[in-house]
Amino acid sequence: MYPLPNHEPSSKFVEFSNLQKAYPNPYGEDFVAVENFNLNIKQGEFIGLIGHSGCGKSTVLTMLAGLNAISGGGIIVDNKEIDEPGPDRAVVFQSPCLMPWFNTYQNVMVGVKNVYPHASKKERHDIVMYALEVCGLQDSIKKHPHEMSGGQQQRVGIARAIALKPKVLLLDEPFGRLDSLTRMDLQDTILQILNKEKITTMIVTHDVDEAVFLCDRVAMMTNGPRATLGEILEVGFERPRNRKDIMNDPMFYRYIDHLVSYLMDRAHLREPAKTYDKNSLLSFTKKPGDKATHVA
Ligand code: ADP
Repeated sequence: MYPLPNHEPSSKFVEFSNLQKAYPNPYGEDFVAVENFNLNIKQGEFIGLIGHSGCGKSTVLTMLAGLNAISGGGIIVDNKEIDEPGPDRAVVFQSPCLMPWFNTYQNVMVGVKNVYPHASKKERHDIVMYALEVCGLQDSIKKHPHEMSGGQQQRVGIARAIALKPKVLLLDEPFGRLDSLTRMDLQDTILQILNKEKITTMIVTHDVDEAVFLCDRVAMMTNGPRATLGEILEVGFERPRNRKDIMNDPMFYRYIDHLVSYLMDRAHLREPAKTYDKNSLLSFTKKPGDKATHVA
C-alpha cells in the first residue's frame, strides 16, 4: 500500500550529528544527558537503541520525534532538519493513551483526519481499515479501550501510528508493560507489518532478546551522564524472521551475549564507537575481567 520510491534506499535517511541534550538544572549547571551522539540510519532499517536505565535512550528518541528540544547538533530525516513534531514520525509509547470515549475505529481515525484533512471519507476509511487489519484488530473495531486487554490497546496504538503512513516509526519500550506471551505476539505483529511496509523504525528497549529478534542493528549507548554511542551490533538474520528458527540459531545467543557483556562490562567506557557483525563477533575476544554470560 505504501510503495517505496524507485531509487536506492538512502543510507542516511536519518542522521544524528553531534546530538546533545542538556536539561536545565534548578541549581545552576545544566545536566548534560546526551552528547556527541552520531548515528546514521538507512531507509527501511529497523534499529534498536539499548543502554542502562536513565542513560538517555528516550531522550534521543523524543528528540527525533520532535517532542524534546535539541540542545546541540541536529537530526535530519529524509533531508529535512527536525525542529518540531510532525506526521512523518509516529511514536508508540509504553502506554497507548487512547481516548476512552472513542472506539477502536474512532481512535485510529482521529489521527488520520488530522493528517489527511483533504482525503475523501472513503480514502480515510480505507486507510483506517487497512491499519486495523494489519494489526489484527478486525474483530475489535467497535470496542472501547475499557473492553480491551492491555495488549489489544497497544495494538490500537500501533494501528494509530501505522495509519499515519510515517516515514519513521518510533517505538519507546512499547511492550514494556505487557506479559511475555502478549509481548511476543506484538513483536510478531510489528515484524509482519514492517515486512509489508518497510518503514524506517527505531525501538528503545532494555530487552536484549527483543532487540536481537527485531532489529537489523542494535546501537548500544554508554552510561550517562553525557551518554553517547558505544557500540553497534549488526544482526545478520534474514527477513522474514521466524521466532523458532532464530531461537534455535546459536548466533542468537552470541548476539545476546555481546549485548549483555557490553552493558555489564563496557558501557561505562568512552571508547570510539565500534561496529560488530556476525564475523567479527565470532572472533571477538573478551578483555580480561569481562564476565562470561550466555555460552553459544
Ligand atoms: P532512558 O530512556 O535511557 O531510561 P532518559 O532519556 O529517560 O533515559 O533520561 C536520561 C537522563 O536524563 C536521566 O538521568 C534522566 O533523569 C534525565 N532526564 C530525562 N528527562 C528529564 C527532564 N525533563 N528534566 C531533567 N532531566 C531529565
